[in-house]
Amino acid sequence: MTTYDHDLFVIGAGSGGVRAARIAGGHGARVAIAEEHRVGGTCVIRGCVPKKLLVYGSHFAEDLVDARRFGWTLGDKGFDWATLRDNVLAEVDRLNGIYHTTLDSHSVTLFGAHATILDAHTVRVGDATVTTDKILIATGARPLVPDLPGAEYGITSNEVFHLDHLPKKLIIAGGGYIANEFAGVFHELGVHVTLVNRGDTILRQYDQALRDRLLQISMTKGIKFEFNVDFKGVEQTNTGIRVLTGGEPLEADLLLWAIGRRPNIEGLGLDAAGVALNDAHAIAVDADSRTNIDNIWAVGDVTDRVQLTPVAIREGHAFADSIFGNKPWTVDHGCIPSAVFSNPPIASVGLTEAEARNKLGTVKVFTSDFRPMRNVLAGRNERSLYKLVVDAATDVVVGAHMIGPDAPEILQALAIAVKAKLTKAAFDETVALHPTMAEELVLMR
Ligand SMILES: Cc1cc2nc3c(=O)[nH]c(=O)nc-3n(C[C@H](O)[C@H](O)[C@H](O)COP(=O)(O)OP(=O)(O)OC[C@H]3O[C@@H](n4cnc5c(N)ncnc54)[C@H](O)[C@@H]3O)c2cc1C
Repeated sequence: MTTYDHDLFVIGAGSGGVRAARIAGGHGARVAIAEEHRVGGTCVIRGCVPKKLLVYGSHFAEDLVDARRFGWTLGDKGFDWATLRDNVLAEVDRLNGIYHTTLDSHSVTLFGAHATILDAHTVRVGDATVTTDKILIATGARPLVPDLPGAEYGITSNEVFHLDHLPKKLIIAGGGYIANEFAGVFHELGVHVTLVNRGDTILRQYDQALRDRLLQISMTKGIKFEFNVDFKGVEQTNTGIRVLTGGEPLEADLLLWAIGRRPNIEGLGLDAAGVALNDAHAIAVDADSRTNIDNIWAVGDVTDRVQLTPVAIREGHAFADSIFGNKPWTVDHGCIPSAVFSNPPIASVGLTEAEARNKLGTVKVFTSDFRPMRNVLAGRNERSLYKLVVDAATDVVVGAHMIGPDAPEILQALAIAVKAKLTKAAFDETVALHPTMAEELVLMR
């Protein structure tokens, strides 16, 4: 029998890779992991975590205004970006330390370098060459920068957490969740934000009613939107950048590209090992996350199934249990809840109204369009919108969509009901918890 240096070599110590490594280690496998940037990956180092902390930090702008209506007298208020930035980055450092500890405590050998597959059982990592029985590719994705003259003058979400100072004017290119989240954050921090999109809408995969509501609220707050813009290039100016379009150029101090993320497959040696890609230039895998090569698997964003942290984690966990723990299971990619931490946030699970009409034919739609109690007293004219989409034939709730304060917190629990295929009658039989916003979910008739 051939003896390899490791039972498992994981490439990429992000959400999926770290989970797989520690579970496989726990099952007794001899595991190594390579990380070329920082252990923790996108979510912890430059994604979900620092982003959410900035969302919290920026929301104080409105909270402090509203506080006066609740009787609070406030002294002069001021905001210091460096304090927020450094505290957020310190929290990222703390979490990075915890991830290192987790790998250590599961006896996972860490290589802090870029890894390239040389053949199905050999990996080059930094200056070392190691052999391994199995390989897991968990290299994630990276921000897409368009192939345009001057595109390099823009930054991406990788750099945005490290800004020396806040810009006065910011152009965010894109219309997805990352674009809308940073639009909300920077607008609250006093930056003039223009969201510029090639298409004619935002958040294409979300229910139309929620998208319209977010657009309306964002515009009322003062965020500008430019749709159907043909990006031609970017120029540097004395004060910042100029975005060349088919029409009037757009000027700002800073440009943030948020136009999508692409699987990290470059320099991985996929050709050497014969690992096949799918049409989306992601690693093609089966339901068990196995590639076309028998001893190589891939999980997370690099497979471009659903680019979310909990999905990468689950895929990594299922792989490790199945291959090293003698507990085979697969990830169900249906009915995955998701959120946009815009201001206000959006959260959604299951079919949108349009998807349900296409798929099921007859659907019933229940909506609640209301001004949260807190907004009423604050004099803030912002309405929330909740929507339940029900299969008319079975009465099963097939989709739930919300925009409003705390929508993601509420939707996580609601997703259990939708995943469990509960009927609208079951919602109706549930007594309201009063006074809450969430009670609207059981009061829609
Ligand atoms: C701004 C932003 C906000 C986000 N917000 C959310 C959110 O709110 N909720 C959510 O669920 N998801 C969110 N995401 C997405 C989430 O971060 C990813 O889905 C998740 O991190 C994917 O995990 P992964 O294990 O596939 O890859 P990653 O976590 O990206 O880890 C991959 C790791 O592999 C390393 N690597 C790559 N190539 C090599 C190589 N050849 N050798 C060695 N190391 C390598 C990379 O440096 C990286 O650390 C956000 C992403 C961004 C960018």
